[in-house]
Amino acid sequence: MVVYKFGGASVADANSVQNVVRIITSAEHHPLVVVVSAMGKTTNLLEVLLNESRKNEDFSNRFEELVRYHYDIVNDLFGKSFKFEQLDKAFDDLRNNLITYKKHKYDLAYDQIVSFGEIISTIIVNQILTHSGIDSRWCDARKLIKTDDTYREAIIDWNETIQNVTEQLTSQNEHQIIITQGFIGSNSEGLTTTLGREGSDYTAAILSFCLDAEYMAIWKDVPGILTADPRLFENVAKIDRLSYKEAIEMTYYGAKVIHPKTIKPIQNKNIPLWVKSFIDPSGIGTLISGEIELTYPPMIVIEPNQALIHISTKDFSFVGEHHLSKLFDIFNKHRVRVNMMRNTAISFSVCTSDLRDRIENLYDDIKSEFNMVVDHDLELVTIRHFTEDLIAKLKNGKIILFEERLRQTIQIVVKEVPNMIRK
Ligand code: ASP
Ligand code: MG
Repeated sequence: MVVYKFGGASVADANSVQNVVRIITSAEHHPLVVVVSAMGKTTNLLEVLLNESRKNEDFSNRFEELVRYHYDIVNDLFGKSFKFEQLDKAFDDLRNNLITYKKHKYDLAYDQIVSFGEIISTIIVNQILTHSGIDSRWCDARKLIKTDDTYREAIIDWNETIQNVTEQLTSQNEHQIIITQGFIGSNSEGLTTTLGREGSDYTAAILSFCLDAEYMAIWKDVPGILTADPRLFENVAKIDRLSYKEAIEMTYYGAKVIHPKTIKPIQNKNIPLWVKSFIDPSGIGTLISGEIELTYPPMIVIEPNQALIHISTKDFSFVGEHHLSKLFDIFNKHRVRVNMMRNTAISFSVCTSDLRDRIENLYDDIKSEFNMVVDHDLELVTIRHFTEDLIAKLKNGKIILFEERLRQTIQIVVKEVPNMIRK
């Protein structure tokens, strides 16, 4: 069994979808399970649609935009007269959900709406495979992936998921291709849940784990894992091989190539993970596996939109373990993720994503006991396997607010120096 995952960029228009069909048809190993994300920027568009509907605004233009975007692809693939009932039904269900879940809690409503990106993309991809004479089966990921009810960041119920996947996917005939959605699952009430933005990689890893896959491949618009984001840096290099440990560290620090939760399930079963280019499918890509590399080049991860929260005791008492344990509980409750932290005698500072509503809710919970000050608009720069020269270059022109150096990793929280020009 082999698991492929195609992200939004790989199915953003009709030509790209045809390219995905070519990659699937030339797969050398079977049976094949294919996990697909929402097409192009559909997930963002669905978020806008959801917000419009909740503000009781007229969302019909936005809805039309979504339908038109997908139908342009469908028309290119199958011709204008093609009657696509399964797709029309999905759009109807989406419209109904936009109305039904208007008054429900935001996170619950989010999952009932935003999950449609994947439902729609997989219906189209499955249809084009069938149309091209390939034996493929559309499979509803909500019947496979079972979760708790933490909407938007659902936690996997592994026992149920393993059982569902083995029952529904292992008996398949060798050459039938399974097409399923990334990112989505369902809870015990049967409501849709999602696994967090960009969570389709994680879905593929969960399925790989349950199926004891021979390997998993993520098809991307880059040649493999690079030493830095090519949109931000010049002269980046592709890394041919990475250990699971190195990959999990990089993704934890914010490297966007793969979702951070992807590595654990595949590491636990020692499944090799290939990151390959859908633009150049014959390129060798990057192999992530249990083999240890002795040396790595420096790798840079930039996390924008960071905040630095400074918390101090009101009565000048030391920040002791009892304070920290209380603070961590509150951080956890508001899902404020600690990217970096430090404590001094009477203060505790953490770097976290600048999610203002979560930070405000956190403040409400601690303000009786602590003072809190927040710096916004920061960047967290992480360099693995750093060199002094590279650190100096990255610090150049920045104000350094926070720095931590370990043996292989340096993390720096920086702010842009205002670009003042002398008159
Ligand atoms: N479509 C979802 C997102 O854009 C999931 C994914 O792409 O992996 O976040
Ligand atoms: Mg996506």
